[in-house]
Formats: sequence, C-alpha cells, structure tokens
Amino acid sequence: MIIPVRCFTCGKVIGNKWNQYLDLVLASYDKKGAEKDEKDAEEDEITAEAEALDALGLVRYCCRRMLMTHVDLIEKLLNYNTLGESEGS
Ligand SMILES: [Zn+2]
Repeated sequence: MIIPVRCFTCGKVIGNKWNQYLDLVLASYDKKGAEKDEKDAEEDEITAEAEALDALGLVRYCCRRMLMTHVDLIEKLLNYNTLGESEGS
C-alpha cells in the first residue's frame, strides 16, 4: 500500500527512499534502453534495481527486499469508500 517507514527486520528508515528509488530505476531503464541496441542483453548482470539500491545506500538484503517487493496500491485504494456512506443520501 504505502511504503513502510522502516525496514521490518532491521528498523532502518526507508520510507523516504521510495520516490528516489523509482526515479533512479526509471532513469536507468531509459539509459539502458538507448544502449540496448549495441550491447548483448546477457552482458548486463547488474540490474537497474540493484544500481538504484546501491546508490541509495541500502546494502542489507532485508532493506533491499522492502523496496524491491513493494507494490504501491494507495492510489487505487483511495477510489473505494471504506466508511460505508453512500453519496447523496
Ligand atoms: Zn533492513
């Protein structure tokens, strides 16, 4: 839903890194997409996600999984009314 503020396992603050992580991954994909024509795909062993996590200083795998496995669903959930109130009544 929302990225947790802290890593569940070690407690490191990660909530402020989500947007930076997305920006770094997208920038890396854009860059690699342009270079992809020249290089062989099997040569790229370091993924865009790994580069972004390293740049953010997330070295422990517990913290890395927090960002890698996160699915940002809050915008979709905001479409539903959880209070059970109907409109216009
Ligand atoms: Zn951690």
